[in-house]
Amino acid sequence: LSVDAPAWLEGLNPPQKEAVLTTEGPVLMLAGAGTGKTAALTARLAYLIRTRRAWPSEILCVTFTNKAAREMRHRVGELIGEAVEGMPWLGTFHSICAKMLRRHAEIVGLQSNYTIIDTDDQLRLLKQLIADQNLDEKRWPARQLAGLIDRWKNRGLNPGDLDAVENEAYANGKGQQMYGLYQQRLKSLNACDFGDLLLHMLNILRTEREVLQMYQQRFKYVLVDEYQDTNAVQYLWLRLLAQERKNICVVGDDDQSIYSWRGAEVANILRFEKDFPGAKVVRLEQNYRSTPPILAAASGLIAANSERLGKTLWTERNGGDKVRVIGVWDAPEEARRVGEEIERLEREGAPLEQVAILVRAQYQTREFEDRFIQIGLGYRIVGGFRFYERAEIRDALAYLRVIAQPQDDLAFERIYNQPKRGLGAKALEQMHRHARATGMPLAAASLQLADSDELPPRARTTIASLMGDFLRWRDMSETVTPSELLRTVLEESGYDAMLKADRSAESAGRADNLTELSRAMEDYETLGDFLEHVSLVMDNDAAGDEEKVTIMTMHAAKGLEFDNVFLPGWEEGVFPSQRALDEGGLASLEEERRLAYVAITRARRRCTIIHAANRRIYGQWTSSIPSRFIEELPQDHIEVETTMSGGASLWRANWSEREDPFAHVSAARPERSGARGPGWQRALSTGYDPKPKRLAEPGRSAASFAAKPRSDIAIGARVFHEKFGYGEVIDQEGNKLEIEFEQAGTKRVIDSFVSLA
Ligand code: ATP
Ligand code: MG
Repeated sequence: LSVDAPAWLEGLNPPQKEAVLTTEGPVLMLAGAGTGKTAALTARLAYLIRTRRAWPSEILCVTFTNKAAREMRHRVGELIGEAVEGMPWLGTFHSICAKMLRRHAEIVGLQSNYTIIDTDDQLRLLKQLIADQNLDEKRWPARQLAGLIDRWKNRGLNPGDLDAVENEAYANGKGQQMYGLYQQRLKSLNACDFGDLLLHMLNILRTEREVLQMYQQRFKYVLVDEYQDTNAVQYLWLRLLAQERKNICVVGDDDQSIYSWRGAEVANILRFEKDFPGAKVVRLEQNYRSTPPILAAASGLIAANSERLGKTLWTERNGGDKVRVIGVWDAPEEARRVGEEIERLEREGAPLEQVAILVRAQYQTREFEDRFIQIGLGYRIVGGFRFYERAEIRDALAYLRVIAQPQDDLAFERIYNQPKRGLGAKALEQMHRHARATGMPLAAASLQLADSDELPPRARTTIASLMGDFLRWRDMSETVTPSELLRTVLEESGYDAMLKADRSAESAGRADNLTELSRAMEDYETLGDFLEHVSLVMDNDAAGDEEKVTIMTMHAAKGLEFDNVFLPGWEEGVFPSQRALDEGGLASLEEERRLAYVAITRARRRCTIIHAANRRIYGQWTSSIPSRFIEELPQDHIEVETTMSGGASLWRANWSEREDPFAHVSAARPERSGARGPGWQRALSTGYDPKPKRLAEPGRSAASFAAKPRSDIAIGARVFHEKFGYGEVIDQEGNKLEIEFEQAGTKRVIDSFVSLA
């Protein structure tokens, strides 16, 4: 050890120490979960600063999440014994590149105050471009193009870099042109998308020698955590920055590569030794995190993968509970059971902060959230929204709220143009104005507008047909179950189609969340009951600062650890996911297995795997098959338990016979009403009485669409209209006026839009 080595280095094991002390030259730390890679990387960062080998601002340190960056900053401060001033280059690839790009934006034709656009804006831009090119957006959806462009950017490809195959991937050879046009348009808006942050910086480093040299000089040391999940553009960017000094230390685990769907290339690990010859390869084998059974279960499972470098893991710890595998009857029982287990842990004095439920897909959180709220168990959803707060769930709920309660302006405003119907801000402004003037709810006001010339013909047709839909759905809501109603609404509103056209990685998850919503609704007889339940659930934020259980996806849990980990839903089609099974390839299955490895290795003391014998999908009970990953666990280290009488063998027989244990439940559901409701014309003549459960607010009780207060403006009056100018009232019906305008001719307008001239 060098003389200035701090005492805390003694806490590290020899290979960790080596990774810290080999400050010069390339270092590749390749090791399994929980072996102290992140700990060693953090110690290295502290060591470099503490020994004055570099100022904090001279170190580039990349973490996988912003949270990990914050934790690392905090830990370095602890090790050094004082808060570290300024580590500007500690963060995720995106945050670091965003900061760099501000300084060099002009090189790629941007100003330093450029905006970073989100997916919505990205799609809007692409749609315009597609229309400009007279391409059929139905045939060549903007989302498809967006997905392609993201992938190209992940691979570091500019429009000019695309080969013929890539070019063919969109609109018969228009890929390159559209990508180019999109980049131009972004530039003219002084904007860039997420992928551009890296691609622009890579381009700058590639073309501007001085800039490259400046950063190569500045960054005396480069550190990268979770290296197995870097994609090509990130890799190329790193390689350029580190190529000069070659003081680059990357740490990773090929068994934990779980982001290939975002372009991550595990091959980057293998390439490292080629690009940085003479790299010191450090292998850590001692696991400090988990008990022997947990470690054995995880190692046994991942051994089933063929594509791996292979490594050994051992621990000094003894004993520890076996990994439990629990079979339950169905999803509600799964949530109940986990709740009970957690309450038991709590009684034993385990801190809730150290309990995590890791799910494969976001939709799985719903059942747990509902249950935990019921039993008053504090929880937090990390790396995502609570179920009922997710955008697609809020959209769906907004539709249902308008159906149940047409006065719900907030809900109406949320979905009047979602999916996009071409109703812009202008239309909304008109609706608001009219609603304000008449005291009508937005929905009713808009229906009235649709019957006037206040809006352009297209907007009028659109609104009329949307309101027609609402009336039909409202009629339906009296005859079909809430969950059937939801499915109809999603289909007929175009919401389903919107998600289908979306080929982004998230859209499938959104569709699954909506399926889960419909599943949740099956427990309620009326729409009102269900909406009431939701408002209670959404209101339950009271848990405050008390200790909370963490619910998150396995993907988001990477790098973290908890004393107690629950892994629900280990069934074929849930985990491994149906998508991975459908794709069928070995690669996707092996990625799922790596995810299982990541999940199990988050546990320090206890790991509990759960699978349910039945899942309910669209009102149908389907028997599920336990995940193949359960069979792959080494039998000596697991303890199987089933809560069902007759034991596992019985229900296994059950699922193979594929009988429907709850046939009577689905049979009891009312027939779907085939009758199509009346059109919006009927609404105008007969009214659209929402039949609210509670008394409507005063002034709003005239919320029926038929409400037509009489206008104060009499026939013959001279009036002024903002859009149509001066004119004379020639007819009047309720609050609608027929006016002969001097310039615009005869129009039907609503009285609140005119003033007496
Ligand atoms: P993952 O692959 O999951 O990211 P990792 O290899 O980064 O895991 P760390 O999170 O750094 O592992 O460490 C796992 C646990 O082991 C942490 O609680 C850490 O504090 C502890 N640990 C690491 N090194 C040592 C050590 N030398 N002695 C004792 N405990 C250690
Ligand atoms: Mg780590």
